[in-house]
Amino acid sequence: MSEIISLVNELERKNIKVTQQRRIILGILNNNKGEHLSARDIYTLGKDIDDSIGLSTVYRTLNLLRDVGIIAEYHFDKEFAKYELSCQKEQDIHHHLICKNCGKIIEVENYLPGHFKDEIYDKNQFICQEFSLKVSGLCKECQQLFSEEKTS
Ligand SMILES: [Zn+2]
Ligand SMILES: [Zn+2]
Repeated sequence: MSEIISLVNELERKNIKVTQQRRIILGILNNNKGEHLSARDIYTLGKDIDDSIGLSTVYRTLNLLRDVGIIAEYHFDKEFAKYELSCQKEQDIHHHLICKNCGKIIEVENYLPGHFKDEIYDKNQFICQEFSLKVSGLCKECQQLFSEEKTS
């Protein structure tokens, strides 16, 4: 609950009106951490809370929240963009392993060393504001599937 308050405060700081629908969408993202929801998923969940929410409102809100950096948009596959709250704290930063076979998304901790940004800056004079690492491959279950296929 306190996290939703800090998200709302952040919107206000950025001079963005916190409408009931924006609050609902933020709440859904906050309650589904690690889930990587599509606009349609958010719409379906939002409808249960307030049935006046429309899909186009969801899209507009997501674009707005993305543009101000409150949420992150991912394109894990060609299908739909997926969303989650941006990592506000250093310890929340994580990366995604995407299984090319079943589409599963596995979150992994940030293995990059803490001085990663400093090093980028030292070598390239580039200020790193956000970064993400996308790793695609085969999950454990799918590896098993493929090895069984080979042996039978
Ligand atoms: Zn994630
Ligand atoms: Zn898989």
